[in-house]
Amino acid sequence: MNLILLGPPGAGKGTQAKRLEEKFGVVQISTGDMLRAEVAGGTEIGREAKAVMEAGKLVSDDILVRMLAKRIERPDCKPGFILDGFPRTVPQAEALDTMLAEHGVKLDAVIELKVDAPTLVERIAGRYSCAKCGTGYHDLFKLPKVAGVCDSCGSTEFVRRADDKRETVQARLEAYEKQTAPILPHYAGRGILHDVDGLAAIDDVSAQILAILDALKVAPK
Ligand code: AMP
Repeated sequence: MNLILLGPPGAGKGTQAKRLEEKFGVVQISTGDMLRAEVAGGTEIGREAKAVMEAGKLVSDDILVRMLAKRIERPDCKPGFILDGFPRTVPQAEALDTMLAEHGVKLDAVIELKVDAPTLVERIAGRYSCAKCGTGYHDLFKLPKVAGVCDSCGSTEFVRRADDKRETVQARLEAYEKQTAPILPHYAGRGILHDVDGLAAIDDVSAQILAILDALKVAPK
C-alpha cells in the first residue's frame, strides 16, 4: 500500500499514519520528523532548516525532494509507505510523480483530512509528547492517566515542538492554504483523492480511512 496523507498541521496525519503503519505493515515517512532529526543532529540540513521551521514556513523544495528520494529507496519502503507531510508544494508533488515512476511504484490513494482552522490552533497549541517514547498528549484532550507520567513508558519527561506555539501555528496554516492546498487538484484530476472528516474522533477517522482503503481493495497485512 502506498498512500499520501494530506491535511493542515494538526489534522491528525501523524496519529493516523502510526495506526495504518501497524495494520498494513508499511512505513510512515514523516518529513517533519526527518527534519527535526536533522536539527537535533546539528547537520548541515538541520542548520538550514531550523529557523525556517521555527518561523512556521516551508523548507526548500530542493532539500525536501533530495531527502525523500533517498528515503524511499530504502528497503523498508518496499512493502509500502505512508507519506505524512510530503508533498507540500506543487513542485514536490511533481518531483514525487517522477520518483515513483522511476521506481515503478503506484500510489493507491491520497487521503485529505479536513479540519477547520480554529480547531487546528487549539489542537496544536496544546499538544506535547513523551521525550522518551514519543507518545502524544494534549493539555485539554489527552492527559496522561497519572499526572506527569507517560502512560506508555513511565517516563516523566515531556517535550513540546518549537513550532507548536500559537504565534507560529498561524504561519503554518497559511503555508498550508497557499502552498499545499494547490496540490489537491493534482490528485483529484487523477481520481485518487479522497477526503475524510478530520474533526471526528480518532477512531472514527481511522474507520473512515479504512473504509476508503477497503473500497479500493487494499488489504491489511
Ligand atoms: P510537520 O511535522 O509535518 O508539521 O513539519 C514541521 C515543519 O517541517 C514544517 O512546518 C516545515 O517547516 C517543515 N517541513 C516538513 N515537511 C516539509 C515539506 N514537505 N516541505 C517543506 N517543509 C517541510
